[in-house]
Amino acid sequence: MTSHSQVLILGGGLAGLSFAIAIACENPDSDIVLLEASPFRSGSPNPLDTRGSALNLHSVSLLESWGIWSGLRSAAGAIRDIHVSHRGHFGSTVMTAAELDVSALGYVVENHELGQQLLARATQLGITIRSPVRCSGLRTDAGTPAIETEEGEVITADLVLVAAGVAPDWFAQLGISVLERPTPNTALVFNASFPGQQSGRAFERFTENGPLAVLPLQTLSHADQRYNVVWSVSNSTATTFGDLDDEAFRNHFQDAFGWRLGRVQAVGRRSQWPLMRLSASEQFRAGFLLVGNAAHTLHPVAGQGLNLSLREAGLLAQAIADAQQRSAAIGCCASLKTYLDQVSDEQRLVVDSTDALAILFNRRGPLLDVPRDASLALLDLLPAIRQQVASVGTGRRYA
Ligand SMILES: Cc1cc2nc3c(=O)[nH]c(=O)nc-3n(C[C@H](O)[C@H](O)[C@H](O)COP(=O)(O)OP(=O)(O)OC[C@H]3O[C@@H](n4cnc5c(N)ncnc54)[C@H](O)[C@@H]3O)c2cc1C
Repeated sequence: MTSHSQVLILGGGLAGLSFAIAIACENPDSDIVLLEASPFRSGSPNPLDTRGSALNLHSVSLLESWGIWSGLRSAAGAIRDIHVSHRGHFGSTVMTAAELDVSALGYVVENHELGQQLLARATQLGITIRSPVRCSGLRTDAGTPAIETEEGEVITADLVLVAAGVAPDWFAQLGISVLERPTPNTALVFNASFPGQQSGRAFERFTENGPLAVLPLQTLSHADQRYNVVWSVSNSTATTFGDLDDEAFRNHFQDAFGWRLGRVQAVGRRSQWPLMRLSASEQFRAGFLLVGNAAHTLHPVAGQGLNLSLREAGLLAQAIADAQQRSAAIGCCASLKTYLDQVSDEQRLVVDSTDALAILFNRRGPLLDVPRDASLALLDLLPAIRQQVASVGTGRRYA
């Protein structure tokens, strides 16, 4: 069986769904088909994903314009300030929303909530979502990009977005080389609760086991405050921590994080995410465009992977609208040139700064401790630089 769609999206993770929605909002008449290999259980893209995403202000305004934020806002935790510190060392700094004259530096949403809202909006916009359908191969039929499913169906499209996450074998099929750097580290992700009311403070703490991000979640009750924690540790530490019962793990976490929020009351289910760095040498070839983690997989230390994808989704939707206005083909190099130039600059900035942070805060040793402590101390002393750092992280540079 063969069919054709205007835009075909492979992968219904947060990136695939966001690109589908952005394109549908900007181009209401477009015919978009999205294939996802896993079933969308309970209406949510991945109910087992315990991660949260820190969204910058630019991402929030995009979600607003796509009709998603109004349903998500009540489930989002506002970040009013960020406390950055290094366990056992002198440097620390606080970046505040007030300094930037905004009500929040960003918001934290649980991935299953965000996924649910994206899925509902995609359905509402008339995007054809097929799941579970696994793509088994990519090819071009007389110059037109095409995919094959495991059931032997062939779908051709004007433009195929590959949003299938970290899947290097796909790149070989496209003839695109990939720089893949697995790290010996794993992100341990879990929710934790502390006594008292949510103040909206996020914490980035550098520990001997690796960076620890503690992000405020929406409050469920006034008796405690919930946080989403991302702790990047070595693979062997992740295995050791994985074997501990909740009580023993809670003690390790308390010891590393300290007592800024009081006693850790409870820790939830822990999930593990292998950390790797991946970038493709090309993002577009023969009608196939790589997006999301398939195009750039970043260390989560700066929480920028999804933010970058949302920004790119907005830019691509605009590029498609421009091409359609000129009656130009949407899947050709000329129509995507501006988009590709824009994202290449964007990616260089975000990827380089994320890599620098990951290197600075993952390595241990006195030679690196000095610049790390000095940079935190300096940031605390120089409000102008601190504002600059905060405004890059919040996405305000796009305003
Ligand atoms: C621990 C951690 C914390 C993070 N925190 C943040 C944060 O705070 N802020 C931020 O901006 N970013 C963050 N990120 C990054 C962010 O999670 C990702 O950028 C985001 O999830 C986008 O992923 P994706 O949709 O590209 O890929 P994936 O989530 O991997 O989705 C790919 C989808 O494609 C499907 N698929 C794969 N193969 C096929 C096939 N053959 N056929 C059909 N479908 C297929 C898969 O089933 C899957 O659903 C974090 C990442 C990690 C690891």
